[in-house]
Amino acid sequence: MTINNQQKIIILTAPSGAGKTSITRRLLAQHPDKLAFSISAATRKPRGTEKDGTDYYFMSVEEFTNKIQHEEFIEWEMVYEGKYYGTLKSELQRIWNAGKVPLLDIDVKGAIHVQQQFPETTCSFFIEPPSIEELQRRLHSRGTETADSLEARINKAAYELSFKHSFHHVIVNEHLEKAAAETEQLVLAFLKN
Ligand code: 5GP
Repeated sequence: MTINNQQKIIILTAPSGAGKTSITRRLLAQHPDKLAFSISAATRKPRGTEKDGTDYYFMSVEEFTNKIQHEEFIEWEMVYEGKYYGTLKSELQRIWNAGKVPLLDIDVKGAIHVQQQFPETTCSFFIEPPSIEELQRRLHSRGTETADSLEARINKAAYELSFKHSFHHVIVNEHLEKAAAETEQLVLAFLKN
């Protein structure tokens, strides 16, 4: 059966710091005509140069919970203590209407929920860091974490690694170039089917 590209979904998930955002950016830059970044709703504050409506739809907890009540999300999670993130139904529809396939960069639980809802039309990638030590080093050198939030992210990463077999493809990100190229080939094959 051929699936209309208008219903397809691509998910990249990984423990934070595994490099999924770098791979997501590359895929989007390589295939702007085919893929579009699914902009999530989030209740955390913007970091650095992040813009509302580009990186996230930043909103208050009240606004977010109101959208939960109105069933506006495909999935949502409290990814970090008190911080909500979610994929809006309207966002996927916006991208499908533009004739593209949404690329979701979301956490492991959220990815599993999307996959359960759209088992026939989703292609999922788990980006695996070479090791927990390497992950720790990457997060540390990113310099955006406090000691507490670094520890929280590492603990969460160890837990998330145990779910890697729930996804269609596991890509070990030892070398970004190689991991990105491998992901791109699999994405292109999925888009063709
Ligand atoms: P950050 O705060 O570093 O931008 O993102 C933290 C984590 O939340 C990342 O793992 C990111 O992939 C995840 N995330 C971003 N958007 C969503 C979403 O819509 N749903 C879920 N479940 N996780 C998300």
